[in-house]
Amino acid sequence: MLPEIYQEMGISSEVYQLGEEILSSLKERFREIDKIAEYNQLKVLKAMQECKVSEACLSGTTGYGYNDMGRDTLEEVYAKIFGTEDALVRPQITCGTHALALALMSNLRPGDELLSPVGKPYDTLEEVIGIRPSKGSLREYGISYRQVDLLPDGNFDYEEIRKAINPNTKMVTIQRSKGYQTRPTLSVARIGELITFIKKIKPDILCMVDNCYGEFVEKLEPSQVGADLIVGSLIKNPGGGLAPIGGYLAGKKEAVENAAYRLTSPGLGKEVGASLGILSSFYQGLFLAPTVTAGALKGAIFAANLFEKSGFQVVPDSRESRHDIIQAVTFGCAEGVIAFCKGIQKAAPVDSFVVPEPWDMPGYDSQVIMAAGAFISGSSIELSADGPIKPPYSVYFQGGLTWQHAKFGILSAYQSVKDAGIFTR
Ligand SMILES: *Cc1c(COP(=O)(O)O)cnc(C)c1O
Repeated sequence: MLPEIYQEMGISSEVYQLGEEILSSLKERFREIDKIAEYNQLKVLKAMQECKVSEACLSGTTGYGYNDMGRDTLEEVYAKIFGTEDALVRPQITCGTHALALALMSNLRPGDELLSPVGKPYDTLEEVIGIRPSKGSLREYGISYRQVDLLPDGNFDYEEIRKAINPNTKMVTIQRSKGYQTRPTLSVARIGELITFIKKIKPDILCMVDNCYGEFVEKLEPSQVGADLIVGSLIKNPGGGLAPIGGYLAGKKEAVENAAYRLTSPGLGKEVGASLGILSSFYQGLFLAPTVTAGALKGAIFAANLFEKSGFQVVPDSRESRHDIIQAVTFGCAEGVIAFCKGIQKAAPVDSFVVPEPWDMPGYDSQVIMAAGAFISGSSIELSADGPIKPPYSVYFQGGLTWQHAKFGILSAYQSVKDAGIFTR
């Protein structure tokens, strides 16, 4: 029965069988992922129960949004899950970049310095910081930036970090996920070691972690190993695929309040911001997030094993431990990247009939191809892939709202790459 329906949907029995073989070797790893999901499911449930989430929390307010119980309770739930004093979880935060910009702009003042001890931050933050000149950047407000790259072996350059910290260093930004770089993603434990080191040198530095794509991958979050502020997007892991917009910050009360005064207005802070009708999807998405993340993680590991076995370079590799949900596969040729993305698009529940093509995109120095057939536009907790059309011709793949869909998408991408004749080059 199963091979037949796969065949009807374009997966040859040969590719299906190869997938099954790979999967039989992954049982133990999948069992570990299920254990983490089970722990995190209870962590989320416990927080919802302790904060007394009620039916009334699921409806929304309009206008100013004074006394929005659902909004305030959800922020308590986030703070409890992440082990922080406070949280800001809002549909008015438009995306991950906005949440990060908010955290930085509200906690830094002219004359302060921001330090990234883990190399170059995510592309969009270059404009927030002013690494690339941009209107409204931190740089325009007289906030300087310093960066210490990781050592060639991926370790922290403790000596240079020590030298980089000076009396003006007010804030540190640590990106957990590798993003579009080739360095390894940082584990929560490694982030903890780095923060301990930094705090020993200057205890009053505010340590922020860009937590995008990392939530619920491990049992602990960076805020539970010393981070003062963690920041992320609700159309990634913590929205569970249901949140249609939004971002969060969780951390020290003062840091979160500063962000709230910046998001709304001095004097108003967290007190305003109507939730309209959106909260039930925030709550329900958060409730599903641990299992959705687990499915995406299984997909990433399955893809790594499948493509590595066929001779392609994959980052992380087939055996590495995982700290985010992103998988890179390097094809070495544009046709490979394009075929992979076409296979992912074909597997989508929405827009499966659309054929993605490489395109010039603002902010990129090469053409980019993107595959996404998502219920929520741009949601990358849903099955999605993208790749810049330039050497080394890597594709970045992530998501899948269910493990079964992630599996199908990867088999579809594999079939597409195979049919394009990339394996025989
Ligand atoms: C996605 C992402 C961002 C930015 O989020 P957007 O929602 O795309 O603005 C920042 N940092 C990392 C590591 C990300 O993965």
